[in-house]
Amino acid sequence: VAHQETHGFQTEVKQLLHLMIHSLYSNKEIFLRELVSNAADAADKLRFNALENDSLYENDGDLCVKLSVDKEAGTITISDNGIGMTRDDVIANLGTIAKSGTADFFSKLSGDKAKDSQLIGQFGVGFYSAFIVADKVVVRTRAAGESADQGVEWISEGEGEFTVGDIEKADRGTEITLYLRDDEKEFADDWRLRSIISKYSDHISIPVRMWKAPVEESEGPDGEKIPGQPGEWETVNKATALWTRDKSEISDEEYIEFYRHVSHDFAEPMSWAHNKVEGKTEYTSLLYIPSKAPFDLWNRDQTHGLKLYVQRVFIMDDAEQFMPTYLRFVKGLLDSNDLPLNVSREILQDNKITQSLRTGCTKRVLQMLERMAKNDAEKYQLFWNEFGNVLKEGPAEDFANKEKIAGLLRFASTHADSSDQNVSLADYISRMKEGQDKIYYVTADSYQAAKNSPHLEIFKKKGIEVLLMGERIDEWLMQHLTEFDGKQLQSIARGNLDLGDLEDEESKKAHEEAEKQVEGVLERAKTALGDKVIDVKFTHRLTDSPAVIVADDNGMTTQMMKLMEAAGQ
Ligand code: ADP
Ligand code: MG
Repeated sequence: VAHQETHGFQTEVKQLLHLMIHSLYSNKEIFLRELVSNAADAADKLRFNALENDSLYENDGDLCVKLSVDKEAGTITISDNGIGMTRDDVIANLGTIAKSGTADFFSKLSGDKAKDSQLIGQFGVGFYSAFIVADKVVVRTRAAGESADQGVEWISEGEGEFTVGDIEKADRGTEITLYLRDDEKEFADDWRLRSIISKYSDHISIPVRMWKAPVEESEGPDGEKIPGQPGEWETVNKATALWTRDKSEISDEEYIEFYRHVSHDFAEPMSWAHNKVEGKTEYTSLLYIPSKAPFDLWNRDQTHGLKLYVQRVFIMDDAEQFMPTYLRFVKGLLDSNDLPLNVSREILQDNKITQSLRTGCTKRVLQMLERMAKNDAEKYQLFWNEFGNVLKEGPAEDFANKEKIAGLLRFASTHADSSDQNVSLADYISRMKEGQDKIYYVTADSYQAAKNSPHLEIFKKKGIEVLLMGERIDEWLMQHLTEFDGKQLQSIARGNLDLGDLEDEESKKAHEEAEKQVEGVLERAKTALGDKVIDVKFTHRLTDSPAVIVADDNGMTTQMMKLMEAAGQ
């Protein structure tokens, strides 16, 4: 080994390693899933790069993962003939964590093992999970297209550092050897590994092969000859791209494992939808809703989008063009028969096919959510608690689906006297008073502030339900959502509040009388406030508070002004 250098792991890697080893002990076998998943990704990348440069195959186009065991030595070796890595790749990929949301992740760790292991799961453990079962890992790799002397060897005991050196490696790809810890030797077992593969990696589209030892010729009980068999690499997974298979033949477990592969998430998805579309446009989509929001959901640089395949060839990760921003939490893949194989992000940007795929995928997700809301309200509530505030961006972004999105929204309301956002607009409408034709709401800085808004007084008195909106995004949402199911949405903090038919004759008269009595007060207030206000008016909205500030019908609400101020405008 030449040019051997020792490098320290990035601090975060050290921390992650430590955490993983100490908190994932009940789920050790996932290391194999992670390594096989990486091998499959490497095969995808090679195929993609070979579209432009066929010579990368180096006359070996039979992409696969090979898994072998040396029981005596206590080692497992996973090798692939995928894209491989250069020395720089190795140092970057196997020494640092480049994921977005890393800082967020580390700041959320609590020291509580159960909680932290769940967090690690969400974050994704990847390559480093090898150290859960191994106290030494050796990676030997050579990038496709490089010569045999460009091989690299990476060795680490998972403590604080690793070494890299140059080696000769004739075969393209990556070979990872795990030296199992003394108490993890049980993994050096053929049968055990087969069962882990079938549990976690059946859906991987390239074959995972294991060496089947040769059987020697033997003699039966009556002295007859039983022929021997040569050893061979035997495929132990289904090795068919999961999304190309028939829905009815795919189990929930397979869908769940496939989710983990495409999303790099470790938890189970909340829901999924698998659809084949044939006809004018042809594509397959497999879309998942995660069960937990990622750490960086609100980070502008968050990577999101679908894995894009064209005619079953992997093209790119994180293709953002197929999902609107308000559905950025959706994971999964799209396999198009219509896009060209040499499609680039630039071509996708401005493309009719992209448009129709995006429309189709958006429809699928909204449909999946509608069904969940209808058939499993409890589950939908979990979804809403995680992703509701993202969905609220929908009406502003997606005009065509406004009504559908509005149907999916959930709010707190005066009906339940709880901050839980679980009232749909349809629920609200079903409880409307006779003669009520509007959906009333109030926005404020928080649920508490909304709940205590003086604007609510008259509604309480009359027993009219009001939606209580205390999230930052609500004001923005309500700017774009003015109607649902033919009913106008009305802020109770705006302009002249006309309760219309909800007002009875008697109180109308009483109001007029009262109004005459305070005319003088209004004049004095107007003079005192001068041009700080547009007008001072008499109101019947209040029952306990003496006065309230309201926004002009055409102007911004006070809440919107605060938002603008906060945004520095
Ligand atoms: P992730 O798969 O989520 O990117 P991992 O920790 O599993 O994270 O892997 C880190 C990176 O190391 C990968 O993104 C890839 O670039 C590289 N890598 C890991 N395994 C292989 C492999 N078998 N072949 C080529 N590159 C690999
Ligand atoms: Mg990985």
